Amino acid sequence: METIYIPHLLTKIERKEVIDFEEFLPDLETLTPVRGRLQVAHQGNYLEVKAKAETIVTLTCHRCLKQYNHRLALNSSELIWLEETANQTDSSSAEIEVALEDLVENLSPGGYFSPGDWVYEQMCLELPHKQICDTECPGISLTDDATDATNTESSETVSDSRWASLEALKRQLP
Ligand SMILES: [Zn+2]
Repeated sequence: METIYIPHLLTKIERKEVIDFEEFLPDLETLTPVRGRLQVAHQGNYLEVKAKAETIVTLTCHRCLKQYNHRLALNSSELIWLEETANQTDSSSAEIEVALEDLVENLSPGGYFSPGDWVYEQMCLELPHKQICDTECPGISLTDDATDATNTESSETVSDSRWASLEALKRQLP
């Protein structure tokens, strides 16, 4: 997706640009290209960005550590304020007062808007916090050995397989 020179939007019909895309994003590892439509409209002192997109990502289950495919769908919009002071921070003052306006995105009116970066950020926000391959995921399956070891832990006859490697090491010693 090509970067948009913001003042250029003012010359467009309805001051907006609609981009249809189907491509891999450089920093987002996806199984399929990110496909969708993005619209960016110049509203004078702000940009109105809307996008619908989808892709498939491979995630690692937090419970069983197996990889699984997840459909990532995006349907979001954002207002980006156009301010000359964008990206200028006053590092001289120890205490920086954070105004509410600073908490939202802003760009310089004479700057650029990158649809690719925007879609990337939105996609990252859509990634599930809790990544579970299946609601019924049983978690890491214990091997028979490990199960036996757990069961016999309190019993008299210790045949814990975890000690086996230690025993083997002992035998190697003079
Ligand atoms: Zn799982």
